[in-house]
Amino acid sequence: MKSVIIVGGGLVGALHACFMAQRGFKVDLYEMRPDIRTLEVVRGRSINLSLSARGREALRRVGLEDIVVQTGIPMYARMIHDVDGTRRPIPYGKKDQYIMSVDRRHLNEVLLTEAEKVPNVTMHFEHKVMECDFDKGTVSFRKNDGSVVTATADLIVGCDGAFSGVRQQIMKKTLFDYEQVFIPHGYMELNMPPAAGDHFAMEVNYLHIWARNEFMMIALPNQDKTYTCTLFMPFDIFRTLTTKEAVRKFFQDTFPDSIPLLGEEYVTETVSTSKALPLISVKCSPYHVKDKAVILGDAAHAMVPFYGQGMNCGFEDCIVFDDLLNKHNNDIGATLAEYTETRSVDAKAIVDLALYNYIEMRESVNSRMFLLRKKLDNFLYWLFPNTWVPLYTSVSFSRIRYHQCIKNKQWQDRVLRRAMYVGVSGLLAVGYCALTRPQYFRLSLPVQLEDFVNRVRPSWLERICF
Ligand code: FAD
Repeated sequence: MKSVIIVGGGLVGALHACFMAQRGFKVDLYEMRPDIRTLEVVRGRSINLSLSARGREALRRVGLEDIVVQTGIPMYARMIHDVDGTRRPIPYGKKDQYIMSVDRRHLNEVLLTEAEKVPNVTMHFEHKVMECDFDKGTVSFRKNDGSVVTATADLIVGCDGAFSGVRQQIMKKTLFDYEQVFIPHGYMELNMPPAAGDHFAMEVNYLHIWARNEFMMIALPNQDKTYTCTLFMPFDIFRTLTTKEAVRKFFQDTFPDSIPLLGEEYVTETVSTSKALPLISVKCSPYHVKDKAVILGDAAHAMVPFYGQGMNCGFEDCIVFDDLLNKHNNDIGATLAEYTETRSVDAKAIVDLALYNYIEMRESVNSRMFLLRKKLDNFLYWLFPNTWVPLYTSVSFSRIRYHQCIKNKQWQDRVLRRAMYVGVSGLLAVGYCALTRPQYFRLSLPVQLEDFVNRVRPSWLERICF
């Protein structure tokens, strides 16, 4: 039986353990934190996440889609909150297409429990990775009591997140390209309680967005009828909100309709005393070392959360990896080489798209041109469902490779640009003809305009028109 050490028992590590265990590998999963299933409070990143097609497909493959989806809340559209309190929905796709708000902790617990059901899986909590030897296939971990243990396996998989220890080890030992960016914006989470009578305080099946161009707040619904709101803003603005009065004024000016829903005292107290958290974007390559180690999930491609794809992409990593193991008949060396080659192109594409989508979410949704384009895209998608797949649809509701999603969008932009040039040129030509040959169009022009047109009439346009 081949053996694998998985470092990190977060979302991707726990899912990867399910995949590898179900394939018959002996799995040892090492996680730095205590077992979250035993904790009352779990500190960390976002409380809920949006799950879409790629993530669902991965859960389906390990038999967990239904369990997770049952506890999630579908979101069919964005609900834009304007400053004057107007709310307007912008659908994500067709009527039956939706993303799901799921609870991070619940999802992580379900995955850990599922992995543990397979007898060839052992979990080791409170083990922090210290050092890897990629020639021998060993990893040393420091336990909470300070002691160090060393484990050996055929394959080491780093699923230990954006600040991956395994990645740091790879970086020391191979030719490794690495790029990390902290964007100048941070985030802060707020909890919106249920309204009186234990109802959701806002329309439930939406991802609510307060888009204010330079910054934004979003809210995703939870099963307990609360919303988790996340404020994304430049640190420069967060730094000005250190008193309750400053926060009150800021919310009254920018998100007035959210104040009664969140509670004025709660907002002013929380925002003035909490620290905004940073957002990091990571691109690197290669993802593997010889036939011994590989990194998946945020360890390989942390991204800003604006496309809701970080986890979905990490889950899709597990599918891609599994398919390659099938293709190469469990040959680890061949799998790892092809994995880096194919997956890095797509991971880099979604890291870029995630940055782009921040502008779309906080700014473009306020633009008429953007809304018009969305309508046109949806119409063309309806007309040519296999040819004209809008960008958001291809990213969130399909498994079209991420880099192909970008290529499709670029092609669509080119087609529309050309159609616009042709349309505008046609209109100009018709206008010109109407002015120079008004009799064909049953127009009666004022004498001065007729004189002017005759004087400026260019010969080339004359040849085209008549
Ligand atoms: P992590 O979830 O970070 O898990 C890594 C695990 O490794 C942790 O358990 C950690 O304790 C452990 N670990 C770390 N270092 C060590 C070590 N040295 N030794 C041992 N163990 C270690 N994605 C979506 O798809 N949809 C969303 O809506 C979405 N919203 C988001 C909102 C916010 C505000 C943020 C910040 C992210 C969001 N994401 C979203 C991204 C998503 O959270 C990540 O992509 C996802 O958690 C990655 O999973 P992972 O398992 O790779 O890493």
